Amino acid sequence: MVGIVVVSHSPDLAAAAVNLALQMVHGSAPRIEIAAGTSDHRLGTDAAHVADAVVAADDGTGVVVIMDLGSAVLSAELAIELLPEPRIPTRLVPAAFVEGIFAAVVSAAGGADLDAVAREAEAALAAKITQLDPTRAQPGAVAADRPDTAIVAETKIVNQDGIHARPAALISGALASLDARVTIATERSPAVSARSPTALMSIGTRVGDVLRIEADGPDASKGVDRILDLVRDGFGELESTSSRIQAGFDSSSQRGGLETPLGVSSGRVVGPAVRMADPAIEPDPLTRIPEVERSSAITRLDSAAAQIAEQLRSRINAAGAVGELLEAAAAMATDPDLMADASRRVRDQGLSPERAAWEAFGTAANTIRGAGPRQAERVTDLYDVRNRIISTLVGRHAPDLPDPGHPYVLVAVDLAPADAAGLDATGCLAIITEKGGPTAHAAIIARSLGIPAVVGVPGASAIPDGTLLLVDGTTGELIIEPTIDQQATATARQAHRDVLSGPGRTADGHTVALLANVASAGDVAAALESGAEGVGLYRTELCFLDRAEAPSVAEQVSAYRAVFAAFGGRRVVVRTLDAGSDKPLPFLAYGREANPALGVRGFRTAVSYPEVLHDQLKAIKEAAEAESAEVWVMAPMIATVDEVRNFGHAARTVGLPSIGVMIETPAAVIQADQILIEVDFVSVGTNDLAQYAFAADRHSASLASLNDHWQPALLRMIDMVARAAATSDKPVGVSGEAASDPLLALVLAGLGVSSLSMAPRALAGVGRSLAAVTFEQCRRAARAACDADTSARAREAVREIAGHS
Ligand code: PEP
Ligand code: MG
Repeated sequence: MVGIVVVSHSPDLAAAAVNLALQMVHGSAPRIEIAAGTSDHRLGTDAAHVADAVVAADDGTGVVVIMDLGSAVLSAELAIELLPEPRIPTRLVPAAFVEGIFAAVVSAAGGADLDAVAREAEAALAAKITQLDPTRAQPGAVAADRPDTAIVAETKIVNQDGIHARPAALISGALASLDARVTIATERSPAVSARSPTALMSIGTRVGDVLRIEADGPDASKGVDRILDLVRDGFGELESTSSRIQAGFDSSSQRGGLETPLGVSSGRVVGPAVRMADPAIEPDPLTRIPEVERSSAITRLDSAAAQIAEQLRSRINAAGAVGELLEAAAAMATDPDLMADASRRVRDQGLSPERAAWEAFGTAANTIRGAGPRQAERVTDLYDVRNRIISTLVGRHAPDLPDPGHPYVLVAVDLAPADAAGLDATGCLAIITEKGGPTAHAAIIARSLGIPAVVGVPGASAIPDGTLLLVDGTTGELIIEPTIDQQATATARQAHRDVLSGPGRTADGHTVALLANVASAGDVAAALESGAEGVGLYRTELCFLDRAEAPSVAEQVSAYRAVFAAFGGRRVVVRTLDAGSDKPLPFLAYGREANPALGVRGFRTAVSYPEVLHDQLKAIKEAAEAESAEVWVMAPMIATVDEVRNFGHAARTVGLPSIGVMIETPAAVIQADQILIEVDFVSVGTNDLAQYAFAADRHSASLASLNDHWQPALLRMIDMVARAAATSDKPVGVSGEAASDPLLALVLAGLGVSSLSMAPRALAGVGRSLAAVTFEQCRRAARAACDADTSARAREAVREIAGHS
């Protein structure tokens, strides 16, 4: 990809403009380097710095340089002279700064070549010019010399704001890999190239406008279809019944409207909004401390960081499912590189320790934000840790959960693990966050505490304190200032301890075992309290996340026995270590991987570390013999029948009787019938199955709608597995987050799933939902959901069948 260098007098200005542009990239971003400020950290530019940035930004495709004012241009010109031979192809673009960066980033991400990226950046001001003065010529207009074979289509804009920056980037991205010349015109504006985001923005469309799309070339029809799909889908900006924001909440004034609200933890409640406390205030950049005081300032900085790490670690035990996230946050607080950077800023520049922490964490956040969506999720944690350190340094209370003295709906941009650990389900009625997806922290925490939650609500943090909100964590609905009638639809808050009233069954007696997902002693206690019929997923890797060495057999036996003893006489499905990707285990390291989610994870680690698998199976067997639980064992991340056979052989060798595997890859779905010949049961991990089926990172907030477990494609995959299980007369469970959705439980039961395993808090709701319908209703729900064309329609159809609408 063409690299981008941003030359500015101000690092803050450059970082903000780059961040804005990155919001528009859907997929990999180009390399972007910022050369801003002078070497002694004043406003200005530095040619040597620019030359270094050009070298760093180039991957062999060339580099486009966007500059702000006056001397930025001179520095960039000089930098080109300083480049080593052979010179990297470089274009210094006379572009508007913000628009130019946006256009360059989007077109480079779409695969445009060096000249095309430069052209896009230069023409980027066109959109604003035309918007302010429609009579001026359309800078991106293209000649209408279409061949007779051109494909022409017309469609109406259905989203309120038409083709603004984000839709323009989506269209240009959709065409990036196609060989076709595609233009778009409206009744009021001539045709412009559909590959050019800035030209597209310049035609100034609104809801109701008719677009005329014309295309020629080998991929013409694909190009037209892709645009038609995007337009009809309202570029993902349509309000749907599952994502309504009502009653005077003006979506056009919302910040960061990239996401679609998603209900992630069920329940419908009403309560007043209370926002998370404001984060730390930016420390003064101009304060300088005398040299003699710098070393004591560094000591204060180190001790504040150590204090925060300790505070975070002290909350781990009570944190249940988010304990490991707290551990990660604590590690950030004492990250040696980060702290060395902060100390350097105190020692060399004389910054105050709080300013140094602000800048060092800010730089780290910018770096990881550019490293991909999963890493970008860590930015919230990084800022949270930074704010805590700064608060400690200036003697303020750390930004923490509100304590208004009455029940409230917590409104936050996102929840850091440290916030989440302190959440109290009695005071917090519901959570809404601006960011996040179904597997984000806020979602996991809300489910484990049984608090209704909606994530990805654009502009949520602008809702004033005290505003009455109705939050439906099942449908994703959020109503601002609900009417009395609407308030009456909210269910009274379930009692704090909501327990399963008996084994899972439909009204007419069809049974579905309701099991708990556990990872820690805290989860086991919660599972027992909630009345779980057993454990459907024991995530063993979470017991050993912090270990440098593999745990000994004896140590494992004692950990497993504690869980088996708690569930004497009941089923406990133990999953062997699911290491790698988002759950790295130092003792199962596999080196750096460009794409860990597609790398050596789960059962794949057994190829390099067979002894770790063997020891674990031995420990499970020994613990099972010592307790009366009915122990089943399964392997994660299976993709082939060979892997299944290898696992089966290893488990049988130690004498384990009930052997299964997780179905988490599309390959395993397709060969489910053959896999089932080799094992006694299967368990569908819908979190990973959705991630791999939709090629959508499960941690990405902006891809949350693809990881929605109501997607009909995912449901059809579960159907395939359930059919194979029925044919072989073996049990099939679901243990991903899908299992905790009370409405979806009807669909899963109808598909023939025999057990659902979920966060303990979800058990009672799922149990009630099943008990309210007949098995025939479940079967109809399953058919309707699999036949639906979108997740919203699937949900809607099932709600109707269940009588909820
Ligand atoms: C899943 O992928 O759905 C699953 C249950 O496993 P995990 O969430 O632990 O990856
Ligand atoms: Mg998984």
